[in-house]
Amino acid sequence: MIDRLLRLLFPPKCVLCRDLLDDRQTDLCHHCRTNAPNYTKIKFKPSFVAHFTGVWYYKDDVRSSILRYKFANKRHYAPAYARMLAIKLQTEGFDNFDVLTWVPVSTLRRLRRGYDQVKLLAQALGQEINTTPVCTLKKIRNTPPQSGIPDASRRRANVLGAYRAVNAPEFAGKRVLLLDDILTTGATASECARVLLTAGASEVNLAVLAVASHDPSSKHNKNM
Ligand SMILES: [Zn+2]
Repeated sequence: MIDRLLRLLFPPKCVLCRDLLDDRQTDLCHHCRTNAPNYTKIKFKPSFVAHFTGVWYYKDDVRSSILRYKFANKRHYAPAYARMLAIKLQTEGFDNFDVLTWVPVSTLRRLRRGYDQVKLLAQALGQEINTTPVCTLKKIRNTPPQSGIPDASRRRANVLGAYRAVNAPEFAGKRVLLLDDILTTGATASECARVLLTAGASEVNLAVLAVASHDPSSKHNKNM
């Protein structure tokens, strides 16, 4: 009854295209469920990462949806995103890990935005797969956003030394699943994986919500 009333007052919308959902649909409309740009594996993984996967390519409605999630306070997308991630992890055999963690934002950015969007995603995913995420990284430098830096080497330099491992005893000797929202060149994820391995993680795997659609391993790609 309450559920029905809530649906009347706040009709659920597709998290990607924002079309209204009918009673039988959850998270995505029929069109997006069949046509969303699902990520298919390419021969690429960031350095220091053992295995890597993503749900979608970062474009069109996926891009708009994640931008709303990050910058327009659409925090309630987190459980929907987490359900997609959980399916992806299961179908690709990523359920073999001991510790779930995430790439954190700096304190300054979290205070400005009011929330850490990847932490929310990790918490929602944790609920889906019955795991409590562990905070393993702290951003110790407020770096300029990676999105404003086109060059891959400068992106790597920008995040070098920007993260520090915390709670190392909780992940030392264990397989870590690191979560991030968007992967572009992989510089941030690489740096986080390097820090986790240095602090004792036995393996770092990476899962992201969306992958920028170019091939980050290509030296000739101008979008890097
Ligand atoms: Zn849709």
